[in-house]
Amino acid sequence: MTWMNSHHEPVNTPTRSVIDGVEVTDDPTFVDLDPATGAALADVGAASADTVARAVASARAAFDEGPWPKMAPKERARRLRALGDLIADDSATMAALESRDTGKPLTQARTDVEVAARYFEFYAGVIEGVHGDTIPAIPGVLAYTLREPLGVTAHIEPWNYPLQIGCRTLAPSLAMGNCAVLKPAEEAPLTLLRLAHLALQADIPPGVLNVVTGLGEVAGAALASSSQIDHLSFTGSVEIGSLVAMAAARNVVPVALELGGKSPNIVFADADLDRAVPIIAKSVLQNAGQTCSAGSRLLVHRSVHRQVVDALAARLAAVRVGAGLDDPDVGPLISARQLERVDTMVSAGAAGANTVVGGSRVVVPGYEGGYFFSPTLVDGVSPDGVLAQDEIFGPVVVVCPFDDEAEAVRIANSTNYGLIAAVWTNDVSRAHRMAAALRCGQVYINGYGAGGGVELPFGGVKHSGYGREKGAEAVLAFSQTKTVAVAIGTA
Ligand code: NAD
Repeated sequence: MTWMNSHHEPVNTPTRSVIDGVEVTDDPTFVDLDPATGAALADVGAASADTVARAVASARAAFDEGPWPKMAPKERARRLRALGDLIADDSATMAALESRDTGKPLTQARTDVEVAARYFEFYAGVIEGVHGDTIPAIPGVLAYTLREPLGVTAHIEPWNYPLQIGCRTLAPSLAMGNCAVLKPAEEAPLTLLRLAHLALQADIPPGVLNVVTGLGEVAGAALASSSQIDHLSFTGSVEIGSLVAMAAARNVVPVALELGGKSPNIVFADADLDRAVPIIAKSVLQNAGQTCSAGSRLLVHRSVHRQVVDALAARLAAVRVGAGLDDPDVGPLISARQLERVDTMVSAGAAGANTVVGGSRVVVPGYEGGYFFSPTLVDGVSPDGVLAQDEIFGPVVVVCPFDDEAEAVRIANSTNYGLIAAVWTNDVSRAHRMAAALRCGQVYINGYGAGGGVELPFGGVKHSGYGREKGAEAVLAFSQTKTVAVAIGTA
């Protein structure tokens, strides 16, 4: 089939919510747009609050009455591995679909699909080693703990890495024996709908994974405020994150929030600059900067400031901007709204600073309706100004020079966010001092990210959110401990 090899051809993929293994055909629809053209990509089901309630009831029944939570971990693991394999087998289609739906370059979409498959493989392995403890603390009492699933887990997803982030919270939840309801973002719902069908092919029982598409203020709000869910995972903006957390709190439902960041690359004078600059460029440009962990701030020692800015600017200026399927370095932003937001923030914030590269919209020939923004480097930014403090979510890096380690730490920790940070230095003691002093969830030394990082715990502090995803410990976040104490007496 060639139906997804052009941005000008229709897509042929499921577009309706999947509840209890069945497509919902009676919801109205909304239009999902192609960010490279601005044209309609698909008519997608717009779940009402009633549809969401049906999805939650389906997950509830699958949990309370179905085989999934009671299955031996090795049996759940077998099916989750099968799902990972099906995702990998579907990689060409999934990647093309993700590229069209989000705008991301095809190579980056392929990586997303690989990482999504890896989540199921990884948590299938992890779950076989999860168990409770015995507590030999009280004479005459045999005390032990059971690790039990929570029940129904709700997942509200963003549009930047739909499949990858969806699988990030789904895989540990399902591995633990929970049943799920997932709502993709309205801007990019297609790969997660496809996932719902693959899960059925992997023999994951109907109702274990329900996917409901719809608008945030209707379907998302209904899911977050449901009294029938037992956990809510949310990735997206701070504003909506705090809203859904308040809704869940009314039902005493625990929440994990992943809300983005303003992550710094911190470059000391002794760093290997030739190695650092290409990796810093990638950290800014990946997914057109629409990455929660984007390296959107560059803090650089004043003695190498000019050298690093010149080298990074040369890289950004050489970048190819284009439509995702043409596999450029940088694709379009997700929506007209996001383009407007980035353009407005950069124009307003750059006054008084020095825009070294970019700073404006781009018209790509053949894709005049697309939402393209040029890779942008703004130097001489006040560390307290909007550009250095707020998440822009575009291919934009702002530069702040520093004079010593203490100032680097102060600037790095000065935003409301704290997701990840990278330190570039060849001084091993300084590297560890910095790692301890930075207020964030992950610190990289002489690198940025670790592939998909599936195995490494990830999450934020401050407005970047709370809770940890990824890594073996994420499975525990989808479980609860029950303590059993048996009075056995003493001999
Ligand atoms: P958003 O927070 O509005 O959307 C995220 C998810 O929440 C979507 O599925 C959406 O449908 C849902 N949602 C929206 N309103 C809701 C409501 N009232 N109740 C329940 N669910 C609701 O994000 P956005 O508006 O698409 O993006 C805005 C900004 O958020 C971006 O510019 C960026 O700064 C940030 N963002 C961060 C991430 C991340 O990975 N941390 C991802 C996307 C966006």
